[in-house]
Amino acid sequence: MTTLFAPTALLPDGWADNVLIEIDRDGWIVGVDGFKAAPPDEKDVETVVGALVPGMPNVHSHAFQRAMAGLTERAGGKKDNFWSWRETMYRFLLDLTPEDMEAIAAQTYVEMLKAGYTTVGEFHYIHHSRQGRPYEDRALMSRQVIKAALETGIAITHLPVLYAYSGFGAEPPAEAQKRFVNTVPEIMKIVEALTADYTSVPQVTLGFAHHSLRAVSPEMLREGTRAARALLPLAPIHIHAAEQAGEVEGCLAWSEKRPVEWLLENGNVDEHWSFIHCTHLVERELEGLASSGVVVGLCPTTEANLGDGVFPLVPFFDAGGSFAIGSDSHVSISMTEELRWLEYVQRLVLRERTVIKEADNPSVGAVLFERALAGGARALGRRTGKIEIGHRADFLVLDRDLPCMTGKLRDHILDTAIFAASENPVKDVMAGGRWVVRNRHHKREEHILARYRETMAKFK
Ligand SMILES: [Zn+2]
Repeated sequence: MTTLFAPTALLPDGWADNVLIEIDRDGWIVGVDGFKAAPPDEKDVETVVGALVPGMPNVHSHAFQRAMAGLTERAGGKKDNFWSWRETMYRFLLDLTPEDMEAIAAQTYVEMLKAGYTTVGEFHYIHHSRQGRPYEDRALMSRQVIKAALETGIAITHLPVLYAYSGFGAEPPAEAQKRFVNTVPEIMKIVEALTADYTSVPQVTLGFAHHSLRAVSPEMLREGTRAARALLPLAPIHIHAAEQAGEVEGCLAWSEKRPVEWLLENGNVDEHWSFIHCTHLVERELEGLASSGVVVGLCPTTEANLGDGVFPLVPFFDAGGSFAIGSDSHVSISMTEELRWLEYVQRLVLRERTVIKEADNPSVGAVLFERALAGGARALGRRTGKIEIGHRADFLVLDRDLPCMTGKLRDHILDTAIFAASENPVKDVMAGGRWVVRNRHHKREEHILARYRETMAKFK
């Protein structure tokens, strides 16, 4: 049992002073007692120095893409967009071995923890060898990613991705996609093997993903969902949707429907589903999406980096829609930057300030933070994102000694952390009841970085 005393903490009802939190040996919160007069005079109570808030879920990650960050910012001969970026990504993964996958994922997850993410949704589609053949253990690549998560301490919702085609109308996969391709029974072998091995590991949750409507046929979408649901009735199901204007055009030509519209009508979706991006929406889709219970996974720095477009967050939010954040391609790994960009792009489009707010909470930072926690926990099927009994002890300590934090109380702490801190305001991180980052240092970061550097030497 661990007992923490937090002078100030963000509880589900708002900020509280002098909070005593009890955590059991498995990392679950078993007691929360606010407004204590003073820290109890017991030597096994640890006092937190800073503001204690829940750790943030990162709902959309392709961990290996962190190794490409910074390599795709050079202008090519033709107009550069998502599709030309994808060519570079496909070339990069030609050489990626299972050992490389683990080394890169571990480095990515250390950076995530230090940035304030305590849970990751890994949207995992590289299943096969470089020759495009399944490994003897079909789930090998998934296991490498999960091993990296276990080493770093980050909780993982692993989402093995069903991928079969290169375009709408069941177009055969391209050569560069040979490492991704499975039938439904084949992908279910991976999900079944992982479920058997990790069901009793509290740090790991299993889910399922369809890559996109481009990459699965309607029959596969139905069959895959049915098979995943038979094994994991309440597990998260994710899909990329409407990230690119070209994808919307392709979907219209194929079905006379837009991707989100098609999914809402035919996907049998519910509150356990997450649609990633949804950048290109029309009004009728937006309302349907907001009332469907689906969580929209927004990845503002990647969407900006790829020139995708702007998700209409303000009308979606006003219609009651749920959202979460992800760092996707990991061109940046910064929780505060993702949240800041969510608000800033809307301000730029609308030419207004303070646009994401609630009637009873005018603090943009607090509303963004709390909504992303709630949406993220739901999207990843994890009891996290709240300092409340029955939830994982996933916490961040925000550094109140930063100059910009001077004199900041309660919601101003989050407004400052998100909008004004140009250095990382996350000082300590607890994941599953264990301190994994202390004073901005991850306990295994030197070892993990050395292995990452060795791995990256061959990609020069
Ligand atoms: Zn993605």
